[in-house]
Amino acid sequence: MSKQIVVSGIRSTGYLHLGNYFGAMRNYVKMQDDYNCFFFVADYHSLTTHPDPKDLKANVFRVVAENIAGGLDPEKVALYAQSDIPEIPELYLLLNMLAYKGELEKVPTFKDKVRLNPDNVNAGLLTYPVLMTADILIHKALLVPVGKDQEQHVEMARNFAQRFNHRYGELFPEPHPFNFGDNLIKVPSLDGNGKMSKSENLNATIFLSDDDDTIRKKIMKAKTDSGPTEANSEMPEYIQNVFLLLKLVSSTETVAAFTDAYNGCTIRYGDMKKQLAEDMIRFIAPIREKALGLQQDEAAIRKILKEGAEKARESASRTISEARKAIGINYY
Ligand code: ATP
Ligand code: MG
Repeated sequence: MSKQIVVSGIRSTGYLHLGNYFGAMRNYVKMQDDYNCFFFVADYHSLTTHPDPKDLKANVFRVVAENIAGGLDPEKVALYAQSDIPEIPELYLLLNMLAYKGELEKVPTFKDKVRLNPDNVNAGLLTYPVLMTADILIHKALLVPVGKDQEQHVEMARNFAQRFNHRYGELFPEPHPFNFGDNLIKVPSLDGNGKMSKSENLNATIFLSDDDDTIRKKIMKAKTDSGPTEANSEMPEYIQNVFLLLKLVSSTETVAAFTDAYNGCTIRYGDMKKQLAEDMIRFIAPIREKALGLQQDEAAIRKILKEGAEKARESASRTISEARKAIGINYY
């Protein structure tokens, strides 16, 4: 039986963080043997905020290096830059004809961006979910490993796929968000406001490139309180967040010990954060060191991206001819 097709991307907007790792990269690594995987650096998606042209290449190369440092094997997957695949913007244009202004304006992430940056409400921002749909459908993907924050965008991709199929005949499978385990993950920011992110909440985000001391400082500042006063009381959300991080990087014994201490009202959050910091460092340091090493070798990253683009274009060119034909762009 042929392998199921998987697509997912990471924007080249900054340094990768724990959320990117646990929401996306960890799935990529687990899927690379058993699925037909297309993973890309979403450099077009990063242009919505007009980054300095000087920074683009380093940002793209860093995302590649950090993914490989996290365990991704470019031999097993197609790892490419979105801008190397011209079939993606072509499919984006075709899909834009099926996407309506009203539905795009209602997308919560769009509304957030409008609120945060009212002076930069460009059409690229509005049609972001359409470009994301093109990213996915260009390989006819079934599964899209993403964090919780992208769930709704994948749902839109599913709607656009249905709409295309309905109008022009069955071409695209319906893509679904995916995470090993049950639910999609949201790694919360350390200040309890939203999620860790590459472009917001930077001081409350733990990056895979943070040095040991920075990790300690950030974790020690995470919001806690003086502890519960009643046995087995409900955890406030900011305490749940610290426990969530502990579960990601610490042993089950450690998590159980602090959970018992919480329930018995003997917990000392200072100790818990110290333990969390050390476990976090043990998790991050090897990825950070490996990524630094890989980034020194630009030629190697260039080669990976070129080979990845070749693999991706093979599949993309097949899909775009089918899409053009379905629409009737089939003249000669
Ligand atoms: P930006 O702030 O530039 O949007 P980002 O940190 O949100 O950056 P993206 O490039 O938008 O990262 O997303 C890459 C992948 O990482 C997506 O699959 C997304 O769902 C996932 N992801 C991002 N942040 C988190 C998080 N805090 N928890 C879980 N998954 C996350
Ligand atoms: Mg994002």
